[in-house]
Amino acid sequence: MQILHPFAGSIQHYFDEIADPDRYRPDHCPQCEAQHPLTGHGFYRRTLVDDAFDGVISVRRYLCLCCKRTVSLLPEFVLPWLRFSISVIALFLAARLLSGLTLVAAARAAAQPGMLYQRGQFWIRRFQKQAPALSLALVPLAAPGHPRDPATDFVSRALRMLESIGWIAAHRFLFSQLRVHLLGWPASLVPAGRRITLASARPDS
Ligand SMILES: [Zn+2]
Repeated sequence: MQILHPFAGSIQHYFDEIADPDRYRPDHCPQCEAQHPLTGHGFYRRTLVDDAFDGVISVRRYLCLCCKRTVSLLPEFVLPWLRFSISVIALFLAARLLSGLTLVAAARAAAQPGMLYQRGQFWIRRFQKQAPALSLALVPLAAPGHPRDPATDFVSRALRMLESIGWIAAHRFLFSQLRVHLLGWPASLVPAGRRITLASARPDS
């Protein structure tokens, strides 16, 4: 299971912060609710592309000795299962779907001029599918008196809410409180990002 690393900051700041396993050690298990601090369980590595970074980051992992499942602390600037940072995806989607730029121009606006256009189309498809759920889920974060224009389509409405709330702040709320993924969980991980195992009751990781 992935939960958010309880810190907000830059990628460099994140590298400095994860060195000490005690610093953000969860004091209970979010999966079985055992009230014991989790045991350090190393790191896993994942790729990340951001504005000024393209490489591998380490994600700290803990193990619950009661249910034998792992919990990883994902930094809040990335989305589970996606290689590009939230800010890159946000810039691309806003440029394409709010400002109406072409795929190529939107990739340039997101500082990814060499990006495959299929990647952008994949984000757009997933965002369009997820937009109605986001428009509803983000209502508690929208400013009081936030104009609700019923004539606006879900995609524009969700994008405007995300732009005004801030994409990372919105992601923090959606993911931590509701287990909602900004672009929707892949079908193999519904409904809340846990891997489905049909043949056995193997714990997820
Ligand atoms: Zn547990």
